[in-house]
Amino acid sequence: MHSSNSLELTSPGLTSSISAPLLGRSLADLTAWVQQHGQPAYRGKQLHQWLYQQGARSLADISVFPKAWRAEMEAAGEGEVGRSHLHYRAEAPDGTVKFLLRLQDGQIIEAVGIPTFRRESAAKRQRLDAAHQDSAFPSSGSHSDTSPYSRLTVCVSSQVGCPMACDFCATGKGGYVRNLEPHEIIDQVLTVQEDFGQRVSNIVFMGMGEPLLNTENVLAAVRSLNTDVGIGQRAMTLSTVGIPGHIRQLAQHQLQVTLAVSLHASNQALRETLIPTARRYPLEALIDECRDYVQITGRRISFEYILLAELNDRPEHADQLAQHLRGFQSHVNLIPYNPIQEVDYKRPDPRRVQSFVQALQDHHIAVSVRYSRGLEADAACGQLRASRKDG
Ligand code: SAH
Repeated sequence: MHSSNSLELTSPGLTSSISAPLLGRSLADLTAWVQQHGQPAYRGKQLHQWLYQQGARSLADISVFPKAWRAEMEAAGEGEVGRSHLHYRAEAPDGTVKFLLRLQDGQIIEAVGIPTFRRESAAKRQRLDAAHQDSAFPSSGSHSDTSPYSRLTVCVSSQVGCPMACDFCATGKGGYVRNLEPHEIIDQVLTVQEDFGQRVSNIVFMGMGEPLLNTENVLAAVRSLNTDVGIGQRAMTLSTVGIPGHIRQLAQHQLQVTLAVSLHASNQALRETLIPTARRYPLEALIDECRDYVQITGRRISFEYILLAELNDRPEHADQLAQHLRGFQSHVNLIPYNPIQEVDYKRPDPRRVQSFVQALQDHHIAVSVRYSRGLEADAACGQLRASRKDG
């Protein structure tokens, strides 16, 4: 018997079975797994604790397990945890840390840790102290006095590359390779948590890839990050550029996560020039789907809008956008364009950004501006992987 998360490949000519990694499995599944391999049930709880709280990278790390059993499992090729390897790490002066992670098949993905400091001056020193604690991660958030950050956000990837090919996005320029497995998503969060020596408080699916083209694995990761790692669903944001029908499907899951929709344009003609896949998905249809989502889930949507100087940042664009969002339970996040090498869009100056904010506010639209963090370390939006892939 194999547990539900275990994948067995039994195609002709394939003699051995390959089990899915342990990371991503629930306490019940892990308990079943240890029992299948001759261990008592309480070892399941230990395994769960070591995988999700202690950062075990292999069974060999789990010192409370019998040595002979660990060796036996390793010899049989059983019980692979499913952690990635650090390929490159870059820290920006603002504290943002970008990770390039090498997966089992050699593919490279990005994850970014974005701290929000409580007190700038004390943060660095405390962070070093925290990094040397080997197991328990102090919580981010107001209840923890020892925490140097009020928040630690991880920006995770959901695919290797991305097929959406948005013109302003560095990931889109690099093409698409494959979907990420649940353990490969969870691993990114654990990696950042371990590096910072601090509990992750928030997760945004805004790294490489289009999460709603990999919904099943993304939702499996969300459930595990929630139940096994202990991060609240309300502290997670799924960002999508919109795939016809997929937002409505997502609504059926009744999740507590926030949905962010990458709009980026106030009319269909403009949106098509920025997002090639929008040709098959009229803006009106996307907005309709979003209205359904709000109705089904009762949760408001966050709309993302990259500001590109002269192109989509004029007052009439703000007016158009406001018309689309009239009476909508929503929030607009403006993202001044973060320059990438391949194209020559321009970031608007702060005055233009402010006028756009004001124009939306005049229409009573809730709006905020989000500046990309980690620019100095190429830590924003796909650039690091593009420049370091072969490094
Ligand atoms: N495919 C999903 C998630 C990945 S992109 C989506 O499109 O929503 C996450 C966010 O980063 C999106 O809002 C995206 O438009 C934004 N982004 C990508 N490239 C950017 C750039 N060069 N400057 C600023 N924001 C960018």
